[in-house]
Amino acid sequence: MVVIMLGAQGTGKGTVAGLISQETKWPQVSTGDIFRKNISEKTELGIEADKYISKGNLVPDTITIPMVKDRLKEQDVKDGVILDGFPRTITQAEKLDEMLSKEGKKVDLVINLTTPMEEIIDRIITRRVCTNQECKATYNTKLHPPKIEGICDKCGSPLKQREDDTDPEAIKRRLEIYEKQTSPLVEYYKNKGVLRTELVSVTANHLGKDVADEVLADINKK
Ligand code: ADP
Ligand code: ZN
Repeated sequence: MVVIMLGAQGTGKGTVAGLISQETKWPQVSTGDIFRKNISEKTELGIEADKYISKGNLVPDTITIPMVKDRLKEQDVKDGVILDGFPRTITQAEKLDEMLSKEGKKVDLVINLTTPMEEIIDRIITRRVCTNQECKATYNTKLHPPKIEGICDKCGSPLKQREDDTDPEAIKRRLEIYEKQTSPLVEYYKNKGVLRTELVSVTANHLGKDVADEVLADINKK
């Protein structure tokens, strides 16, 4: 089953995707995570992608699409996958449909998480990520802080702020791009009949657990 998580920055889509992945055992494929891993390992792809990411721009499709294509060829996504951060444009969505249809698959479920704008900025600024690339756990200093300040609960590595989360210009740019290029995907998937009614991720269910439970109920119905 192919599940897509849509939602602007800071809506908790990565957190929810992680929870669903734990339950279903389907891998969470986050393009942002793959880029960050490559950046920290200073691979050719990472060096190239960083030029765009650090400014808050999208990485070009010539890099992103083949990377996802390769990832979706791996054995572990055979039964299911949770896509987090891809597709982000109509072009990417069309390419994804193409890739999947070659294997007799399709997008089965699309989740759109929404959060009020004034909360989004706050959530991005208070976001912290584990520096251990194998762990990548995310925290929020206000909503779900680690037990010990600055230290990952799961693996004990130091936490840090993502580079693109520290630059107000980059944050603004990402939100603009989301609005312009990614939000049309809601309509795209609604027309295909695979969009889950919008889930609002507000402070009350900040842990993402309530949202994840709703999504899991949907998956079980399919
Ligand atoms: P956020 O949702 O906070 O922007 P992500 O981890 O999803 O964080 O992505 C970080 C950055 O990686 C994005 O700002 C963008 O530059 C790049 N990126 C991630 N996914 C894609 C994609 N599908 N297409 C192009 N660029 C992407
Ligand atoms: Zn960790």
